[in-house]
Amino acid sequence: MKALRLHGAVDARIDEIAEPPVRPGTVKIRVVRAGICGSDLGLYRSGRLGPEHRHPIMNEIGPKVLGHEFSGLVTEVGSEAAGIAVGDLVAVQPNIADGTCPACLRGEPNLCETYGFIGIDGWGGGFSEYVVAPADNVFVLPEGFTAETGALVEPLTVGWAAVRKSGAAAGAAGLIVGGGPVGLAILLSLRAIGASRIVVSEISDRRKALAASLGAEVVDPRETDLADFCGAGMDVAFDASGAGSAAFDAAFRSLRTGGTLVIAASSREPVAVDTTQILTTEKRITGSFAYTRADFQAVIDAVAAGRLDPRPLVSSTIPLDQVIEGGLDHLLGDGRATEVKILVAPGID
Ligand SMILES: [Zn+2]
Repeated sequence: MKALRLHGAVDARIDEIAEPPVRPGTVKIRVVRAGICGSDLGLYRSGRLGPEHRHPIMNEIGPKVLGHEFSGLVTEVGSEAAGIAVGDLVAVQPNIADGTCPACLRGEPNLCETYGFIGIDGWGGGFSEYVVAPADNVFVLPEGFTAETGALVEPLTVGWAAVRKSGAAAGAAGLIVGGGPVGLAILLSLRAIGASRIVVSEISDRRKALAASLGAEVVDPRETDLADFCGAGMDVAFDASGAGSAAFDAAFRSLRTGGTLVIAASSREPVAVDTTQILTTEKRITGSFAYTRADFQAVIDAVAAGRLDPRPLVSSTIPLDQVIEGGLDHLLGDGRATEVKILVAPGID
């Protein structure tokens, strides 16, 4: 089968590799849609976690198949994989944790000492024709889902978990710095919980228009002071831009006293923090890294119930043989300003 594998920095290739065999406790999935994530771009640009990388649980070396946001149709079910049938439309929660470290034992497997991802650290990935995944990671999608919405569950869940960490409830006012896929997933999640006001700070025209169409007030931080615009009254704020001090300071100043800032993107630079401001305002700062199984299921339920509709995030759908030029290279170049989420279709509809 064809698979996109990472060989090194700016060296990804569509290789012909063997189809993975189904084993007890796993299912074989024909990938139908797989999204390109910012982390795929980071790995491609840097070559990080390349062929020499061996994850302690996934335990394989050699070029890894990329793609951790995917959906597909089950083609084969191994023994000990109850509740899943051939023909089911499924989404895969790509996270692997050891289940034994202190973080896992206190119910935060996303902070596991040996956290890993299918589609990054091994066990195949969505930018290929077939994936064999542990049955525990496979979620059968309910009526109303398509392969497209199924592939968007993973990136939506990143935003959903960030909103959960913020503590926002119905009626909350939220600021999102950065209107890329993570920021827009936060926007959709805030809407789903009934936020009263959502402000998005973004500079790309395409993303500004999309955020506005999804019900946000949109601000260009080059033209408008965010904290002034927000009246220092936001209950929650999210840095989904990674834009360093400017983004952090604007988000922090936009919060009301006691409000919560969630860091939802890795910063391109270290940020200096005035801790006296934290002392006197009791504003909270926390990170949100990935998500839990419960978050993944909550997003599936919200999409099925019509409270979350991720389809507007899809800006292009491309075949697998276009994934390098029309996907990775494009997103590292001109596509940064014009695309939101690119989905890859490895063959069938
Ligand atoms: Zn663990």
